[in-house]
Amino acid sequence: MRFETKYDIGQTVWALESATVKNEGPCHLCDGTGSVAIKGLYRRCPDCAGGGNRTTSEWTVYHPRLVTIRGIRVSMAQSQSGDFRRNESYTTRETGAFEAGWDVDRLFATQGEARAEAGRLHAARSEALAAGMEGER
Ligand SMILES: [Zn+2]
Repeated sequence: MRFETKYDIGQTVWALESATVKNEGPCHLCDGTGSVAIKGLYRRCPDCAGGGNRTTSEWTVYHPRLVTIRGIRVSMAQSQSGDFRRNESYTTRETGAFEAGWDVDRLFATQGEARAEAGRLHAARSEALAAGMEGER
């Protein structure tokens, strides 16, 4: 069996990096003071661990980063239904190990393609928020 890969070792591509952004606000249980009164004694707030703030919402933002491919890992397996499932992942000079690497669907030949995918992911999140599927808590 011979595997063709989308990219080659040494090739420079655009990886779609992700970062989590959090909004914080005062804890509702302790009103931001970090402590609550229990039978007249003040104790550290169990909801915010005494910090006074809670994460009110968080989301993932994506941005393109130029990387150089250092390694490629391809695996293929057949399910009981007979379908073949293929995984293709990459490691780069910038990110090191495969565990910190990239699935093929997060790498793009051009910055424009990577930006378009970032826009699609951001729009999908906005639609999910509008539908009340995730977000505020
Ligand atoms: Zn609290």
